[in-house]
Amino acid sequence: MLHLRALRISLVVAIALSCGDRGFANEKVRAKRHVVVVVWDGMRPDFVSKENTPALWKLAQEGVILRNHHAVYPSATMVNGTALVTGMYPGKSGIIANQEYRPEIDRKRPVFVEIPAVVEKGDQLSDGKYISFPTIAELVQKAGGRTAIAATKTVGLLLDRQFGVRRQVGAVGLRGELSPHGKRQHVAALQNCVTLFAGKALPPDGLAPIVAALGPFPSAHLQQDAWTTKALTELLWKEGVPAFSVLWLGNPDLTEHESAPGSPSAAAAIKSADENLATVLSFLDRKRVRETTDVFVVSDHGFSTIERSVDLRKILRDAGFGAQTEFNDEPKRGDVMLVGNGGSVLFYVEGHDAEVTRRLVEFLQQTDFAGVIFTKEPMPGTFNLNEAEIDCRHAPDVVMAFRWNNSKNQFGIEGMIDADWQRGAGKGTHATLSRFDMHNTLIAAGPDFHRGKASDLPSGNVDLAPTILRILGITPPQQLDGRVLSEAMVNIDPATPGLKSENKTIEATKDFPSGSWRQSLQISRVGSTIYLDKGNGEFSPKQGGAVSHGPP
Ligand SMILES: [Zn+2]
Repeated sequence: MLHLRALRISLVVAIALSCGDRGFANEKVRAKRHVVVVVWDGMRPDFVSKENTPALWKLAQEGVILRNHHAVYPSATMVNGTALVTGMYPGKSGIIANQEYRPEIDRKRPVFVEIPAVVEKGDQLSDGKYISFPTIAELVQKAGGRTAIAATKTVGLLLDRQFGVRRQVGAVGLRGELSPHGKRQHVAALQNCVTLFAGKALPPDGLAPIVAALGPFPSAHLQQDAWTTKALTELLWKEGVPAFSVLWLGNPDLTEHESAPGSPSAAAAIKSADENLATVLSFLDRKRVRETTDVFVVSDHGFSTIERSVDLRKILRDAGFGAQTEFNDEPKRGDVMLVGNGGSVLFYVEGHDAEVTRRLVEFLQQTDFAGVIFTKEPMPGTFNLNEAEIDCRHAPDVVMAFRWNNSKNQFGIEGMIDADWQRGAGKGTHATLSRFDMHNTLIAAGPDFHRGKASDLPSGNVDLAPTILRILGITPPQQLDGRVLSEAMVNIDPATPGLKSENKTIEATKDFPSGSWRQSLQISRVGSTIYLDKGNGEFSPKQGGAVSHGPP
């Protein structure tokens, strides 16, 4: 505890910087209101039950279950983490996959969008707009409020990468290479606004008191979640519960990738997530702040089981494409960089060669593993990238979601998909347009929510930021893509009664001499916010025609 005391003293003598840039603050965070978001990574809503998840079940009885909740596509962690904290679709925030090819950051190989070196370079190249819109944490800090981000997974860095504060104190490095003066100012500025991500911290000095109290970040998945939960409640909340907190648990996702949905270890991981939720709730009770705290339990995406692992690199090379997953030499026009994201693959055609792109799309349309194909330029039998809200400056030429079906896995759990070469058949993964990947969990309870209610109105991860900012009394600087979840809320001002949802299915087809390709996408809409329900595709061979097969 020596560290915390030293930190406080240095704050007194050093500077009067708050977490955020108070110079721009034109409003204050609504007094005596706290928001705590607990993310259960990859938690499918059909696994919530009185037996599996007693703490979450009880919370749901005290609050609202949003039974028609949606991930954004691709249904993967980094994309949805960014959507959750910005309220913007992926194409607008700029984070459109977990792994992307960003030649301006790395010419040779795809990058993981959340690793510190990539985030840092992305911000340097864009004057702090690596994520194009401010996050909830940044807006709360700007309004003078405290925040705490504690994530078992690396996604934590995207939730609050503290770029503005680091620039303000002249300390732009993310990896601790600050001048002693910059370091002091950084620590002081952020003493109440720590970001924990996979056992690392911003500011880097924020980690020492946590490790002193809890020991180093463990290596086992369930222990990592317990460590991160304690770091939040026992250390980051030591001086009181901030206006905005996120606890991002790595489970059940990490465990279900190694086994599958419905496995005994997945059940244990879900039980562990529930125990961590119970720890958070009992802490709020003990501190007597439960009546002033809204708690959201949300998952970033759902989950599926891999029916077939498809080695697209080999399949495309055998078909004569210059398919690469890394450029060892200078790429040639028409080479295709493949970026696997589990249930979806991104294709970057060097030089945006139109002829290669057309051949690639027509090849995919005649396979038995393509689900839905999106293209940057309009093409027969595809949807435009913006139908899925994933178009942006650095978007790929083609995106393909793998095909899925309703059949059951080895544990009797519905939802099978084809997926990329990174994991084998029988394991769990996600990121397709399957309803099992796109349909995720949201339960909200607290003073601003109805009690014991369920809502079937479509909602989505993009709705959390507008809802949380409304609760905290902060007006976002621009119109958000998501909407305030007023159907779940009490005393909402202005009231928005009579919300209705509309539903449509779009289709695209393409005829070939050997058969025809047809893909569809079901989209729900409430007001101006859209939610992707599910999408799939199929090639129907004519009599005597052939389908290109993936591996058996
Ligand atoms: Zn995952």
